[in-house]
Amino acid sequence: MARAKPHGTLKLEMRAKPTSQASSENPRTHIVPSRETRLQRRERALQIVDRLEELYPDADCSLRFKNPFELLISTILSAQCTDKRVNLVTRDLFKRWPNPHKMAAASISELENAVKTTGFFRAKAKNIQGCCRKLVDQFDGNVPQTVEELTSLPGVGRKTANVVLGSAFGVAEGVVVDTHVGRISRRLALTKAKDAIRAERDLVREIPRNHWVAISHRLIQHGRGTCLARKPRCAGCGLEDLCPRVGLPRHLKNSR
Ligand code: SF4
Repeated sequence: MARAKPHGTLKLEMRAKPTSQASSENPRTHIVPSRETRLQRRERALQIVDRLEELYPDADCSLRFKNPFELLISTILSAQCTDKRVNLVTRDLFKRWPNPHKMAAASISELENAVKTTGFFRAKAKNIQGCCRKLVDQFDGNVPQTVEELTSLPGVGRKTANVVLGSAFGVAEGVVVDTHVGRISRRLALTKAKDAIRAERDLVREIPRNHWVAISHRLIQHGRGTCLARKPRCAGCGLEDLCPRVGLPRHLKNSR
């Protein structure tokens, strides 16, 4: 995807002149958003969107699914569990119970055993079965396509609803805020919120709607490979010049 045109003529505050050789070779401007205006923050958010698109053009949902039902169940199972583990579990799960009707009629102890390795297996088995029963009873066995209907299903919160709408139906109703998206958004000063609902509210204000689905996948990929929770790899990070590194220790903040 082509880089967007440079945005506007906004003058953003310079932190300091680059001193290291690596920095002086970097043609990108170093920005300090500590006293950003609303307009400047929006401008920087757009640059971040463009840059992430450049860095992760193919980022996508890492849960494997063939239809909205599989994505819905996989997302419920992914709470407190890696997508890799969920993909291992769902390979057999969906062979055995391939649709809501069959999963609704499954024995709960067999379901518990099948999802055991994803953690919190009793609650998850109860939720996925409750979810399937409601799909069968109220939605003709189909996955609904609104946040309100999706969040009426057992085990489905706003994040799961956004994942399903965005990745299974291509509907952008919000930004999926998981642990990676929340952490990186705070470091980038796109939000101060620690809870996902408020962080999402801030992100949808700054990011154009047509990027809502992709930005989550891209931030998640960035969080897995570069902006790690404990030791972010700021040196060499593709967002370095756009990131004030909020909340990071001084030695990482000054490592430009
Ligand atoms: S510069 Fe550091 S804190 Fe900012 S996004 Fe990159 S890795 Fe994360």
